[in-house]
Amino acid sequence: MTETTKRKPSPILKGGAIYISDNGRLICAKCAGTSALYTGRDISGQQVERLAVEDVAYFEDATRKPVTCEAGCTSVSRLSGSDGWPAVRESTKDGFTVTFAPTTQQQRVRSEQKKASRKSSLLQQVGRLQSIQKRNHPDSDKWRQASVELAPLFRSMAELEPCEASA
Ligand SMILES: [Zn+2]
Repeated sequence: MTETTKRKPSPILKGGAIYISDNGRLICAKCAGTSALYTGRDISGQQVERLAVEDVAYFEDATRKPVTCEAGCTSVSRLSGSDGWPAVRESTKDGFTVTFAPTTQQQRVRSEQKKASRKSSLLQQVGRLQSIQKRNHPDSDKWRQASVELAPLFRSMAELEPCEASA
């Protein structure tokens, strides 16, 4: 590869990121065409868009596979890096593993802790309502009221269950 570093324009596409091009093609800075790399627009003139965390989550859920660019040189995670963009997965000979900046790891631990405390508070509320039901007859207003309050709690608990794709 001949490099004329002085006159070379700087690429617009960032490394470690995946962009969506025309027709939904996923590209990265390594496999993008020159046009997309330096202008941010593909040959058809369409702006390429960087995949955000929500986009990666969407693709992962839809395909049940890690999100990788078309050529397979870059893969990103639905977990956000310290800059708020999807964390990059490192390429290994067995596939890809996600590496996190320390701050992201801390964020992840914090969010796990938050989830755990939310779950225990939900369990407490469920326990309280279920004990009301135990003490009261199923025909009573108290029993019915408890049952009405239980429904959204069960829904919230179901939402807390992790459904993250395993890497
Ligand atoms: Zn690529």
